Amino acid sequence: MTELERAVREISEEMRQRPDRGEVASYIPELARVDPQAFGLVVIDADGNVAAGGDSDVAFSIQSISKVFTLTLALGTVGDRLWRRVGREPSGSPFNSIVQLEREQGVPRNPFINAGAIAVTDVILSGHQPREALGEILRFMQFVADDSSIAIDEAVAASEQRTGFRNSALANYMKSFGVIENPVAYTLGVYFHHCAIAMTCRQLAKAGRFLAHSGRNPATGHLVVQPERARRINAIMLTCGHYDGSGEFAYRVGLPGKSGVGGGILAVAPGKASIAVWSPGLDAAGNSHLGRIALEALTRRMGWSIFGT
Ligand code: GLN
Repeated sequence: MTELERAVREISEEMRQRPDRGEVASYIPELARVDPQAFGLVVIDADGNVAAGGDSDVAFSIQSISKVFTLTLALGTVGDRLWRRVGREPSGSPFNSIVQLEREQGVPRNPFINAGAIAVTDVILSGHQPREALGEILRFMQFVADDSSIAIDEAVAASEQRTGFRNSALANYMKSFGVIENPVAYTLGVYFHHCAIAMTCRQLAKAGRFLAHSGRNPATGHLVVQPERARRINAIMLTCGHYDGSGEFAYRVGLPGKSGVGGGILAVAPGKASIAVWSPGLDAAGNSHLGRIALEALTRRMGWSIFGT
């Protein structure tokens, strides 16, 4: 067994036994049905070695982790013009906050808070029907993960569509400033559905490989994005990927990472590994509680923090 395999196995076992698990998200009713005891961890290193622990092949709702991939797609479509519609500064506010939109003419602070991700979705939607835009997002996810079985959990999408009043408010508020181009219902429909993509830790770790390896998926050889773009997406993940918990995540884990309220985190150790962890219980900022603790243990053990060993 390699050092990495041993680390992943031991951390997974330790996490399964911990009593502190955080709170499973319940504001999207369908997410509240998930087993709080679940825990999965998958690491794929630069050579393609896979180390897996726990529920590594159980699909979960990736939620806001999808925002990394919609950001990548939107940058591919409109390039740096994207930054007219969304900023790239940490918000220091909760993921679903509306306050800053008033100060900044409806332009969200970054592409990972809900408002920013809805604006990014709107960019992808422009010139397309909602179904086409959603198909493009899903196909891109299947392409980067090299797995055509990845699908949307329609029950989660419908659940959020029924209860997403806050996101509706954000979208309508941005629309009033002209930041949203398409009918709000269309943009939100695509947004709720891409948040409802279901993936396993194994699939997610595969999907993150291009970010860990300067834009290229080493398994397929595909250059997904230019190295500069991968580097910049990683920078935004580091500064904004955990909302108002981003500073704490950088301090403790030291890697670019993106969380979702389904309890998943995708983390990138540049040049070294792509990592996916899942534990549904969340901390106060809406980030996976044990997911972060597991990543902290892993990066410490492997010496992977981008800030030094
Ligand atoms: N779909 C969720 C929402 O819009 C995503 C939030 C998240 O994962 N942080 O509220």
